[in-house]
Amino acid sequence: MKVFSKISEVTEWRKLTNQQTVSLIPTMGALHQGHGFLIEEAKKNSDLIIVYIFPNPLQFSKNEDFDEYPSLLPGALEKDIEFCRKQGIDAVFAPKVEEIYPNGIKKITTVEPNPQLLNCLCGKARPGHFQGVLTVLLKFFNFIQPNKAFFGEKDYQQFLLVKQMIYDFNLHIEILPVKIRRESSGLALSSRNKYLSDEQKIQSAEIHQTLEEAKSLILQGKPASKIVKELNKDYFEYFEARDSETLEKKDKLPLRLFIAARIGKARLIDNIVVE
Ligand code: AMP
Repeated sequence: MKVFSKISEVTEWRKLTNQQTVSLIPTMGALHQGHGFLIEEAKKNSDLIIVYIFPNPLQFSKNEDFDEYPSLLPGALEKDIEFCRKQGIDAVFAPKVEEIYPNGIKKITTVEPNPQLLNCLCGKARPGHFQGVLTVLLKFFNFIQPNKAFFGEKDYQQFLLVKQMIYDFNLHIEILPVKIRRESSGLALSSRNKYLSDEQKIQSAEIHQTLEEAKSLILQGKPASKIVKELNKDYFEYFEARDSETLEKKDKLPLRLFIAARIGKARLIDNIVVE
């Protein structure tokens, strides 16, 4: 497995592999079986798989958890590289912040996400977040020139915004969604689950339980807008029913339910399709 830290190394590798189908898995590190699921899917239809590991400061606001993000802890990168080696990945690109933002992040050109998809859910709750996500992705797409890129449905709004950017900027990359991988409790795997105590983990399982309960009530014919109000909890940042393509609010099937919740210092997100 190749391990690159410089843009020049990864672009050189891509020149040498230009006849092969390369799949990219973008990550912020602290890799877990959710990321492993993306790798499994990528293996089905690619010649080569490259994972990038880059906790991106541009997508965190000042009061968020960038400095404590689990992949920045001592020894975390070595563990992530070992994880990729065991998964049979062909290349890992793990650059330092200075390599990606040599002039810092304050004065750079950023991507403005599609407003209709942006101004709700996490886009509303985390101003500037998706500008940072799309900007860094566009940079990595340019370095790596992948044929395909895999994204988890856990970050469903992100998946839609990336797909829209690919379309609007005429990029030749196939964007593929991957289902959410969960713990046996139903809690969606996330790097931020590391912040949770045992007790908080039990509480976190309520997020998926609530989604399932709401789904079954909606399938019985109850209006989604009423159900999300009835099952809302004080630690939910949002609980909403929206269209899976446009993200417009929706009462009738098919729709998707979205939750963001704060438990201790973890902000957790999850969603489920109802059809
Ligand atoms: P992150 O490292 O958290 O930025 O995530 C990198 C990619 O892995 C994103 O496309 C996520 O949606 C995806 N991902 C993270 N957790 C899961 C999960 N539990 N199931 C499926 N995909 C996931």
